[in-house]
Amino acid sequence: GDNRAFDVERATITLADVGGMDEVKKRLELAFLGPLRNPELRTLFGKSLRGGLLLYGPPGCGKTFLARAVAGEMGAAFISLSIVDVLNMWVGSSERNLHDLFTAARSHAPCVLFLDEIDALGHKRSQLNSSAMRTLVNQLLTELDGVDGNNDGVFVLAATNAPWDIDAALRRPGRLDRTVLVLPPDAAARASILEYHLRDRPVAGVDLRALAAMTGHFSGADLAHVCETAAEFAMRDAITTGEVRMISQQDLAAAVREVRPSTDAWFATAR
Ligand code: ATP
Repeated sequence: GDNRAFDVERATITLADVGGMDEVKKRLELAFLGPLRNPELRTLFGKSLRGGLLLYGPPGCGKTFLARAVAGEMGAAFISLSIVDVLNMWVGSSERNLHDLFTAARSHAPCVLFLDEIDALGHKRSQLNSSAMRTLVNQLLTELDGVDGNNDGVFVLAATNAPWDIDAALRRPGRLDRTVLVLPPDAAARASILEYHLRDRPVAGVDLRALAAMTGHFSGADLAHVCETAAEFAMRDAITTGEVRMISQQDLAAAVREVRPSTDAWFATAR
């Protein structure tokens, strides 16, 4: 239909584009990508590919980016949608729409289906009353379980900033049964995230290590914003002076002072 809440994408990034997250990548490799690439080992050890993954941690630290990279890594289609967005959009027809979503994912298999803000399914204050919410959660459980292997090649990754709000039934074996913590980037990761976001921009004399040292507690999204702000400074100069110059360390340092780190608030409220 025209009011679809999702697009089917082809992911163009891979795990190599994701800055830092060495532990997370190792876990994804062991729990997810390795088994996927080794069907003969799965047969030998009697392991199915069932089950999804729950990513959690502060906002802006790359959960969506990582899920997209997993799809790119697998050469799979990527569908991403925010539960918060669809709850309002789907009032009155949420079960039907959820079913259509899984049908689309199955028809594009292999497909990574990314469900952002999954904790919204537990929220008391939404436009859905509690029995409608219960029905929707049950529908999701049914879709996650699938029938007769019809979820083969559908990999569900869900994300949340508030794992404690998630319905326990969603965490059972075969559903979102593995949890991966995605923390804010450390200094080395911040340097590679900055490098990634500057790769297609004209820069000169930039000291990534110094910038990484100045950006403690910044999320990946904050760092992307720093790069954009620095680019804006240089462009503004080009427009006012008529002279084009590269993005400098000074632009970036000024941008760091302007962008506030966003992860502290999450750690203050995390239980
Ligand atoms: P939210 O909880 O708000 O949905 P999120 O954890 O899903 O946040 P993303 O949307 O994946 O965060 O990250 C926002 C943006 O920050 C990405 O589009 C990307 O540009 C940048 N980013 C975040 N983490 C990384 C990373 N590790 N490497 C490169 N870029 C990153």
